[in-house]
Amino acid sequence: MQRLIFHLDMDAFFASVEQRDHPEYRAKPIIVGGSGRRGVVAAASYEVRQFGVRSAMPTAKALRLCPHAIIVPPSIGKYSEASAIIMAVMKRYSPLVEPLSLDEAFVDMTGTEKLFGKPLDIAQRIKDEIFEETGGLTSSIGVAPNKFLAKIASDMNKPDGITLIPFGKEAESIAALKIERMWGVGKKSSTLLREIGLDTIGDIAKADTRELIKAVGPALADHIYKLSRGEDHRIVISDLSRKSIGSECTFEYDISGRSMVEKKIRPQAEIVARGLREKKIKARGVRVKVRLSRGFILQTRQMKIDQPFDDSKTIFDACCQLLKTVDVDAAIRLVGATAYDLVEEDFPEQIDLFSTAKKEKQSTLEHAMDAINKKLGQQVRRGSSMDSE
Ligand SMILES: [Mg+2]
Repeated sequence: MQRLIFHLDMDAFFASVEQRDHPEYRAKPIIVGGSGRRGVVAAASYEVRQFGVRSAMPTAKALRLCPHAIIVPPSIGKYSEASAIIMAVMKRYSPLVEPLSLDEAFVDMTGTEKLFGKPLDIAQRIKDEIFEETGGLTSSIGVAPNKFLAKIASDMNKPDGITLIPFGKEAESIAALKIERMWGVGKKSSTLLREIGLDTIGDIAKADTRELIKAVGPALADHIYKLSRGEDHRIVISDLSRKSIGSECTFEYDISGRSMVEKKIRPQAEIVARGLREKKIKARGVRVKVRLSRGFILQTRQMKIDQPFDDSKTIFDACCQLLKTVDVDAAIRLVGATAYDLVEEDFPEQIDLFSTAKKEKQSTLEHAMDAINKKLGQQVRRGSSMDSE
């Protein structure tokens, strides 16, 4: 399904709030941040950015760049107040709002066009309402088919801009940008990519995938190759509880030993997998937890899985592997399994086609069992778990 994602980002947020509240600061170089020897710039007004001042820069350095800058101590109370208004405006248009910080959020606007009109018009209305209700704060909105592109777009016409990256123009819209703009590309990987002559996102899109894999490994290669083509299947996560799906079981009597723990984990893995399928999402990480009776010591282990999954076998197998580094011989009062790093259900295949095919089969099988369960209104489980209560 084609999605419609907004990324809203307030313009120089803290500095703009201060300029709103102090007319004498307007059109002046304002730094919000600590003034002490170790002070850091929390926000910089557009006037001071012209001098090269950026947030997270030491205030001392900022003052060398712009000696006449006005340093304003932060007042978080005012910022959170404005933040609450901003988030509330977005929630009028969609319940799926994922805040990234006080002044930034993703909104999943898929399917709202019938209700509110064209995406660009909705974006303008959201901006206008925020301006109105916060007493004059401006924002920028990126409109795109996914999170990655929406975030890039919101930055393209700052301040006070709206930018649309249309469906079908994803790759060309970002081709000229530097590779660092892709989330997941840090200093180390950007150096490796430049070594093989890749400087822009467009270079990655045209690159030989085998070269990419050789340079940065299969997982990152796959990730940036997709991003470079404007593909990103992360979902908008509107509340923390949706960041992972877990299930756990506390025992009336302590259990102990590897085979016993595995036996108790299996139904948890099944519940988690069913939860994923019900929500029509997949996960890319598995976490297992084991709480000991003595001192309530909690042991957790987690791992990333290359292929997105929604089947219990993947979860169970990962749990068993993770449990190898967990003390399972002590008295245990609780075990649990969790799937995290959630993505859309139609997350495309990875480069490793063989293991995808196997997993697809398992997923299809479990989807079929869901359908049967629904029909019968009862639980049908895989044979191997029939013995667990
Ligand atoms: Mg901002």
